[in-house]
Amino acid sequence: MTTRTPLMAGNWKMNLNHLEAIAHVQKLAFALADKDYEAVEVAVLAPFTDLRSVQTLVEGDKLKIKYGAQDISAHDGGAYTGEISGPMLAKLKCAFVAVGHSERRQYHAETDEQVNAKVKAAYKHGLTPILCVGEELEVREAGNHVAHTLAQVEGGLKELPAEQAETVVVAYEPVWAIGTGKVCGAEEAQEVCAAIRGKIAELYSQELADKVRIQYGGSVKSGNVAEIMAQPDIDGALVGGASLDADEFVKIVRFRD
Ligand code: PEP
Repeated sequence: MTTRTPLMAGNWKMNLNHLEAIAHVQKLAFALADKDYEAVEVAVLAPFTDLRSVQTLVEGDKLKIKYGAQDISAHDGGAYTGEISGPMLAKLKCAFVAVGHSERRQYHAETDEQVNAKVKAAYKHGLTPILCVGEELEVREAGNHVAHTLAQVEGGLKELPAEQAETVVVAYEPVWAIGTGKVCGAEEAQEVCAAIRGKIAELYSQELADKVRIQYGGSVKSGNVAEIMAQPDIDGALVGGASLDADEFVKIVRFRD
């Protein structure tokens, strides 16, 4: 059986300036330093303007906290005002980048084709994409949540070589549970995460699918994380609001305690 290291990632969204980011990461580092938490990978997905500060702190202090961005341009450089490229993120030694977050799909009309191009841009520059997928409330109410989410998985991974696909992280985030306080039941989340693994097995192989980490995201807190993490196909959490409170995020990271 493949053992997958849980990945707990905090998506700060458009919160914390670069000074607040330093204070926040210092708190995380201090709170996690007394404990061997290597069995869990911890990452923060910071605004672009924070990345250099986080890098300096993490590198200088040799902290085990990883970091990354919340979006990436599909282009390597050029006349794309306001965008941030893979080479720029790679230069800042980002480990991860979120791709296709529902807020990007919703407010910036990102399509599966664009998300797929961003997944490929991430790999081209040595970053691990966290491919975010999940259905809106109407889709769930109509009972189409699994098909909808699997289509996003297939679209996001289109023509991605197996050696890249095996390291992708998929975050299942039902849109109706993001920032709303409404948590998808652990068993409901497991149903979709198992289907995502099944889809990856169909696209590649069962062996490859067994290596892929699938996170759940949507109002994760210290009070519900253990139940979510007990599900066999859930290998971590993408945490928005609760990751802005360092003490709360540390409790989430230490879900096994
Ligand atoms: C997110 O932003 O990816 C997220 C899951 O947010 P929240 O935890 O606040 O629902």
